[in-house]
Parts: sequence; C-alpha cells; structure tokens
Amino acid sequence: MSDEAANGWVVIAGLGPGAEGLITPDAQAAIDAATDIVGYIPYVRRIAPRPGLTLHESDNRVELDRAAHALDMAQAGRRVVVVSSGDPGVFAMASAVFEAVEAGPQAWRALEIRVLPGITAMLAASAAAGAPLGHDFCCINLSDNLKPWSLIESRLRLAAQADFAMAFYNPRSKSRPEGFVKTLDILRECCEPERVIIFARAVSTPDQAINVTTLADATPDMADMRTVVLVGSSLTRLIPRDGAPIVYTPRSVAKDAE
Ligand code: SAH
Repeated sequence: MSDEAANGWVVIAGLGPGAEGLITPDAQAAIDAATDIVGYIPYVRRIAPRPGLTLHESDNRVELDRAAHALDMAQAGRRVVVVSSGDPGVFAMASAVFEAVEAGPQAWRALEIRVLPGITAMLAASAAAGAPLGHDFCCINLSDNLKPWSLIESRLRLAAQADFAMAFYNPRSKSRPEGFVKTLDILRECCEPERVIIFARAVSTPDQAINVTTLADATPDMADMRTVVLVGSSLTRLIPRDGAPIVYTPRSVAKDAE
C-alpha cells in the first residue's frame, strides 16, 4: 500500500436539518479536509465547491452503490465524506456504509471509518415547537420502501398503546400517498381526538412551517416529504399565547398512573 493509500478515510457526516448554524464543527472540519463528497443530490448541493474537492451526487435509490464507491475511493487514498441530512445514523447513510462493509472485501474493514453525528429532524422540530419529546418517545420511518407496511402498522399500534410520544419520518410521498391516510386512521382508533399533532416542515430552513393541531383536525395533506410529524403522548400539553402555542410533554408521570 502506498503512503497515500494509507491516508484514505471515510467519514459519514450529518449536515443537520438545514441551517448552517446546525452543522457541527466536527462535520464542517471533515468537509474542509475532504477530497471527495458523496451523497444524495440535494445534500451534496449544500456543500460549497472549492478547488481540490470533487462532488459526487447520486440518486436516493442507490445507497449501497454510493457506499461502495466511497469505500473504494478511501482505499485508493482519498478522504471521503458521505453526507446525510440530519444525523447519518437516523434512516440514512451510516447503516448503508456498514452494510457495504459487511458484504464487501476484507480490505474495507481495515479502513478508517468514522460516523459524525448531526442534529436529526425530530430534535430540531421538537425544539421549534417547545419540548414535545420531553418524556419517553419513539421514532418510526413511515416509508414502506425497506420494510412491510404490516410492520409499520403494528409498531404504530404498540407505540400508541405504550403512550409514547412519536416522531414520524418520511410521512408521505407522491408515490405512496395512502400510507399516511392509514396512519391517521390507526392513530384515531388508538388515541383521543384532542391528541396534539405537530406538522413540522422544512425545519431550520427559510421555508420552515410549524403547524400545531389535534388528531381530530389533522388531514393527510398537512404532511409531505419535507415534514417530520410529531404526535404527543396523552400527557402532552399546550401553553396558549399570542402566536404559536408552546407544546411540551412534562418530564414526569404520576407514580400511581397506569
Ligand atoms: N437522516 C435524516 C432523516 C432522513 S429521512 C435526519 O436525521 O433528519 C428524510 C425525512 O427526514 C424527511 O422525509 C422528513 O420526514 C425528515 N426531515 C429531514 N429534514 C427535515 C427538516 N429540515 N424538516 C422537517 N423534516 C425533515
């Protein structure tokens, strides 16, 4: 192996939900040290071009190919940052890279591979609304691209039964509009109509919109692929005030509560 090859690495970094200020200094330092950036087109476009940096954009359906490309380049001595939005370990590229490593040549296991965390959409959305995830919560990807719908449905029912607050990623796309209709139907079967639901769209970008409503008033068209949906637990509360209310879930549940 040449000296150059010995210095290659892969960093899988999260770019946060959109705002520059929500990119961590560690992620920015890795981007500044990189020779190559690999990722889904809109995420790669968030990186400022500079001499010596090659930007490799790819479609979102080719995650394993993208991961293999990054690992190949690192093996050849390149310093590669694989970018995701939010956190790279939340429905994003970190697992795809490790799937490729597990299935790939032994040499990839000797590479320096690091994951740098980022601020995931549900935490940015929660902060924008108040603290709706302030007690126990769970997080579900509503896309059935990579798992059967029946599993999503059973997780939704069990999460509602356990009285978790919930965060839903990928709630609704043009190719599968019916999934979120079913999601709202299931929640209405399991929760009271006054249950708080927050549609947080494009959080921390100039297009940010936070819509706080109830399960009774929620409609499927309130969500799209730029929206993360937060559903409160039965204890989630609103503090009314001029403008948007503050939404929060108290940290405690009474000891005798079931
Ligand atoms: N790794 C990302 C999630 C990728 S899945 C993260 O940690 O945030 C893509 C989904 O994330 C979108 O469909 C949407 O539900 C959510 N999302 C990503 N960025 C968002 C933002 N700025 N505002 C609201 N939702 C966002």
